[in-house]
Amino acid sequence: MTEPIVQYRDVYKSFGDVKVLKGINLDIHAGEKVAVIGPSGSGKTTIIRMLMTLEEPTSGDIIVSGENLWKMEKNGKEVRANEKHLRKVRGDIGMVFQHFNLFPHMTILENCMTAPIHVKKEDKHEVRERAIQMLERVGLGDKIDNYPSQLSGGQKQRVAMARAVVMRPKIMLFDEVTSALDPELVGEVLEVIRDLAQHEDMAMVLVTHEMDFALDIADKVLFLDEGVIAEQGSARDVIEHSQNERLQSFLSRFR
Ligand code: ADP
Repeated sequence: MTEPIVQYRDVYKSFGDVKVLKGINLDIHAGEKVAVIGPSGSGKTTIIRMLMTLEEPTSGDIIVSGENLWKMEKNGKEVRANEKHLRKVRGDIGMVFQHFNLFPHMTILENCMTAPIHVKKEDKHEVRERAIQMLERVGLGDKIDNYPSQLSGGQKQRVAMARAVVMRPKIMLFDEVTSALDPELVGEVLEVIRDLAQHEDMAMVLVTHEMDFALDIADKVLFLDEGVIAEQGSARDVIEHSQNERLQSFLSRFR
C-alpha cells in the first residue's frame, strides 16, 4: 500500500494538567474516509484541530504528505515549525466547523473565492468558475450573490463545504458539522458530504454522532475513549460487531 497521507505517531496532548490525548497512532491513506466517534470530551475535536494546526501536540509527531507538521529542519537541526512551514503543510488540509465561520460581509461567492485568490494566489477567473460550479453542486447556484445572513443554517453549512473544496485539499476535516443545525436541516448537509465522499478523491475525517451515516460512508471508524483509540476497523466491524463494552454502551445511546 502507498505511504499514508497523514500519520500520527505517539501523539499526546494536555491542556494544563488535563491529559486529553494519550498516545494516538493513526494512519490515513489518500482518499480514505474516516469517521471518529466517541463520548463527549474524549478528544475527537482535539485530534482534528491538531491536523489543522489549531492546536500543537504536547509530544509526538504528525506527518502530512511526508512533512512533519510541527517540526522543520534548520541548519541540520530539528526545530519548531515556523508560520511559513505550517502554512505550506496546512495547504493540503481543509476544515468545516460546527459553526460555519463564513465571512458575514462577503457574498456566498466571495466567501468561496477569497482563500484561493489571496492565500494560494490563483487566477481570479478560474477560481470564480470553480466556485460557481461547487456552489451549484451543493444546490446553491441561485444564491451566489446572497449574504450568509440570508441563508438557513443548512445552506450556510453547504457554503462552508463548497468553500473548503474550492481550495482542492487532499484532506477534509469535518467537526460535528450537523450538530448545530435544526434536525430538519441535517439531512441536506449529510447528503452533500455523501456526494463529496462518493465523487471526490480527497481523504475525509469526520467527527460525527450520526452512526448510520458513518456506517454508510466511512472506510474506517475510530472509537475514541478517554484520549485513546480504543477500537478501530471497518465501519461494520466497529459499529455493528464490536465486543468492546464501553463502545457498546456508547452506541446504545443512539439506538
Ligand atoms: P470531544 O470532541 O471528544 O468532545 P474535545 O477534543 O473537544 O473532545 O475535548 C477533550 C477535552 O479537552 C475536554 O475535556 C475539553 O474540555 C478539553 N479541551 C479541549 N480544548 C481545550 C482548550 N483549548 N483548553 C482547555 N481544555 C480544552
